Amino acid sequence: MRAVDLIRKKRDSGEHTGEEIDFLVSGYTRGDIPDYQMAAWLMAVWIRGLGPAETAALTEAMLHSGEIVDHSYLPMKKVDKHSTGGIGDKTSLILAPIVAAGGLAVPMISGRGLGHTGGTLDKLESIPGFNTSLTLADFRRVLQGCGLGLIGQTAEIAPADKKIYALRDATSTVENIGLICASIMSKKLAEGIDALVLDVKTGSGAFMSREADAVRLAEVMVDTAKRTGKKAVALLTDMNQPLGRMAGHSHEVIESIDVLKGQGPDDLRTLGLELSAWMFYLGERVKSVEDGRHLAEQMIASGKALERFRQCIRLQGGNERIIDDTSLLPMAKFRVEIFSPKSGFISATRCRDFGIALAILGGGRNRKEDQIDHGVGLEFYKRIGDRVQAGEKLVTIQYNSEAKLAEAKNLVASAFEIGEMATPPPPLISRIIGA
Ligand code: URA
Repeated sequence: MRAVDLIRKKRDSGEHTGEEIDFLVSGYTRGDIPDYQMAAWLMAVWIRGLGPAETAALTEAMLHSGEIVDHSYLPMKKVDKHSTGGIGDKTSLILAPIVAAGGLAVPMISGRGLGHTGGTLDKLESIPGFNTSLTLADFRRVLQGCGLGLIGQTAEIAPADKKIYALRDATSTVENIGLICASIMSKKLAEGIDALVLDVKTGSGAFMSREADAVRLAEVMVDTAKRTGKKAVALLTDMNQPLGRMAGHSHEVIESIDVLKGQGPDDLRTLGLELSAWMFYLGERVKSVEDGRHLAEQMIASGKALERFRQCIRLQGGNERIIDDTSLLPMAKFRVEIFSPKSGFISATRCRDFGIALAILGGGRNRKEDQIDHGVGLEFYKRIGDRVQAGEKLVTIQYNSEAKLAEAKNLVASAFEIGEMATPPPPLISRIIGA
């Protein structure tokens, strides 16, 4: 078999066999297939798509590129959540400590920023010293110590996703149902969990901007989980505007700490609680989602969730003092405000452009090897449905490089649509799939 023939086959709309997909995934993971051939194949897939059998084969091949972790040394059920990605989407930092404090284990394997979206690992790495590249032995030690651990794909766990994910990020080959399903589910099935809650984003800042596509992605992922004996549910949630008020790595850690302290914006707190509630329910810690919601609220009100986050930071090598003094997080040096050009009501946002602006400022990668600037960020003051006056502040941009500012500023300023009539805000959670 040769990679060049498989690229041509997909380019010409052919359907791969399981052996062909195995050949590509194992060859690329070992380093026998170079980046340029894998990139060409990914683009052919992005254009031509993958059928259900191909998606299942890709998920299996990526899952078995590494080992499936055994957490049977932990007495409690193991649960996790994964989001398909968005702007300001920081719920992992909130729900993992809540759910661990409530008595379940959360062995979370996350990703870095992808396309215009932020990644949990990059956000955590804004905490000085926080190590997301633990060995499997250290990951187990952290989980035994505090009930949660947050790491990336490693040479042992889902190594194929680690490589393919970085390549997709740099080649604009992200928005494809088969590729997203295989990426997410290979990591999640390798985690050794009992149940999985999926947060599938839809709207102008999501990879699946059309609701019908998001529903299809949710169904494919829930089906994949159930076929492998895991309980799973998907919440279809809004990404027509950023989640919370902050986007950017340090900024999002600060906002997550606010929520764990019982503060923070309503939409972020509500979604964090709702996803936690489903995790408690699927992990059989409570009898209903409603009970799960109460338990999650108690974990915040009692300070137990915040304490778990502090322990996790300490055990993963980070400076836990950031919980009490967030000025220890890196922050960009300069600020500039964006003002509304006219009066009216915010009717929509081109949410993806906020993510692209952040990436241009240094918060995302242009090439696989780029370093992230953790201090850049956007703070939002208006949401869809809000009234706005001409000259009123819409966003504060925090930045380090003057050279990158103009392009980012234009994107942010032109991302708001302002109409004359009040538009109802989109529902935060529109559907639940697989319940
Ligand atoms: N999150 C992932 O882990 N992979 C994707 O492809 C998209 C979102």
